[in-house]
Amino acid sequence: MSEISKFGGLGLTALMSNLGPLSRPYKLNFAVTYWCQSRCLTCNIWQMKPKDELSIDEIAEFARKNNSFKWLELTGGEPFLRQDIVRIAEEFYNNSKGLYMLTLPTNSLCDHDMVERKLRSILDLDRTRVILTVSLDGHKELEDKIRGVKGNYEKAIDMFDRVHRLREEYKNIGAFFGYTISRFNQGELERTVEEVMRQLPYVTPNHFHINMGQISSNYYGNGNVEIRANEADILNDIGALLKMRKQDYSPVGMLESSFLRKLMVYARTGEPPLKSRSLDASLFLDSFGNVYPSIMWDRKVCNIRDIDYDISKVWDSAEVNELRREIKEGREPKHWTACEAYQSIVGNLPSLIY
Ligand code: SF4
Repeated sequence: MSEISKFGGLGLTALMSNLGPLSRPYKLNFAVTYWCQSRCLTCNIWQMKPKDELSIDEIAEFARKNNSFKWLELTGGEPFLRQDIVRIAEEFYNNSKGLYMLTLPTNSLCDHDMVERKLRSILDLDRTRVILTVSLDGHKELEDKIRGVKGNYEKAIDMFDRVHRLREEYKNIGAFFGYTISRFNQGELERTVEEVMRQLPYVTPNHFHINMGQISSNYYGNGNVEIRANEADILNDIGALLKMRKQDYSPVGMLESSFLRKLMVYARTGEPPLKSRSLDASLFLDSFGNVYPSIMWDRKVCNIRDIDYDISKVWDSAEVNELRREIKEGREPKHWTACEAYQSIVGNLPSLIY
């Protein structure tokens, strides 16, 4: 399938999601591993010693039996700690024929030659758009403290630069910095953006993707950590970035601006600005096979090992419909995260402009 048809397929699904619930999810948020070499103050994933994570054969079986995905997020932990990350991408590419976009984060702590080799192998598989989000939570003085790893700032800069240079050969790769605002870096976003732009002159504020530190027991395992930044600093940080950003009328640029404006609303009110599309447009699969509505709700739907790796066995069940009713009534924890918010915006297209 050509890139244009895949983009058209994603666009059509986005339009359909404005008309009502979808028959199958188009976005999969899949934590491929919980292994992580970082020591982040905002997240407890690195403290886990995960056992019995899904094997490549199990993932292949899942990809074969669930082929509706148009957007695949392979997250972690650190996804490049999975030796078979290329095979994982390949299994989804081979089965979800309309897959338009693969997004992955990285903490930049794996060997960069290895990451570049794997990225090249993924890019050689297919014309699917690949976006790497390089995690960076502060300027040089701050980043290493928040991530708990000496030299992490320089590694993040190098990782981003390598991906940028890959664009000379592969037009379908892009990179962002992923910055999470928490009480540890509140008020420091502008300085971070300026510092990075001095070091990498081609970087613009539009290369920064922002999240707000949020609590999630089924994903970050950070229920016992006080991470939330104060409201004034969150608003100042995001407001400053919105002012620095260049106007970008591409679909991704408009989505990002809309996401940021609504993140400010969420920071002010604690209320999600749009209704959740969890268990409709998307789902969250962890590395042990557990399925949840989202990364933010610890309500296990099932384990794919118990349903022969086939989500369709439960997708239309009374139990899942009951969960959807609860989501509709707003009983899901109130969230506005990158993993889920985009589906809410896309499913409410007028919200792109306010
Ligand atoms: S935020 Fe990312 S890099 Fe940091 S501990 Fe959690 S999974 Fe690892």
